[in-house]
Amino acid sequence: MLIKDLYKNKKPVISFEIFPPKKDGPIETIYTTIEALKDLKPDFISVTYGAGGSTTKKTVEIASIIKNKYHIEALAHLTCVTSTKDEITAILNNLQENNVENILSLRGDFPQDPNFEFPDPLHYQYAKDLIAHIKKSHPFSIGAACYPEGHIECSSLDKDLHYLKEKVATGTDFLISQLFFENEIFYDFKEKMDKLNINIPISAGILPVLNKKQIDYIVSLCGCHLPKKFTRIIEKYEHKPEALKEAGTAYAIEQIIDLLSWGIDGIHIYTMNRPKTTRKIIDNISTIRNVLIEG
Ligand code: FAD
Repeated sequence: MLIKDLYKNKKPVISFEIFPPKKDGPIETIYTTIEALKDLKPDFISVTYGAGGSTTKKTVEIASIIKNKYHIEALAHLTCVTSTKDEITAILNNLQENNVENILSLRGDFPQDPNFEFPDPLHYQYAKDLIAHIKKSHPFSIGAACYPEGHIECSSLDKDLHYLKEKVATGTDFLISQLFFENEIFYDFKEKMDKLNINIPISAGILPVLNKKQIDYIVSLCGCHLPKKFTRIIEKYEHKPEALKEAGTAYAIEQIIDLLSWGIDGIHIYTMNRPKTTRKIIDNISTIRNVLIEG
């Protein structure tokens, strides 16, 4: 099923994000994760894509297994900035042959390796270039990323929203947001989107924080704001891993309940391949989820 049609028929759409095992890791480990996530009845599961080709084949393989073995809708992430048009076409064909119908179209980050050889000139500069390619050649439903606090490279949120509008106009069907820890930031962002007539469905990306190292890394990557009530939790339980995990999960649940009451189209949980935490979240919102679906 095309994910754009899921959003038409159901609210909220609940989705999970998983990542492939590291380059030399056995692929089987991810099947245990999917197995544990499947009874939570997600509307779709997305699989991240390793920029620079580190886990690219695994993304296609895992998306295919999600769709064809577990019969859950799959969303394959795909980044483009390091790739040639031929490489992207081969991946699109491979996904189509495997019955995967949905792609999260991303530019991707520039690899840190100074010797990395990019196509010269670049075949794709921005996510919208990949979206334009897909739109012309394949019948996928196309998702894209958005950033409630602005993308880290962009000088202002307004500018980033301007580019988001272009990206949507190129052929994006739905958006998944960068994680955030302050719902009001997301609501302000959505208001700005509405004013610009960017009105495709959006899922809010939610990360249950599990340890301090993880949060430090994430802040360094995306520069997201950490509200006081969140940093208090981190500081208080920094050296008590079980307590931090429990408090981080409770924080994510509270965020989701508020987003659902607000009327969000979808919730996208960055599972970090931790099905137990994801199960706790879904168990805690199950009644609300059912009430909303039944209308
Ligand atoms: P774009 O939309 O192309 O934007 C990139 C930057 O360019 C922004 O600063 C934007 O403001 C600017 N820009 C856009 N258009 C123009 C223009 N016309 N002129 C000038 N500036 C412009 N990364 C991975 O490697 N693998 C993954 O699987 C992955 N999954 C992700 C999933 C989600 C939900 C999110 C939010 C991010 C994910 N990322 C992933 C990270 C993403 O690849 C990076 O954030 C990347 O830096 C930007 O990708 P994008 O598709 O948002 O880029």
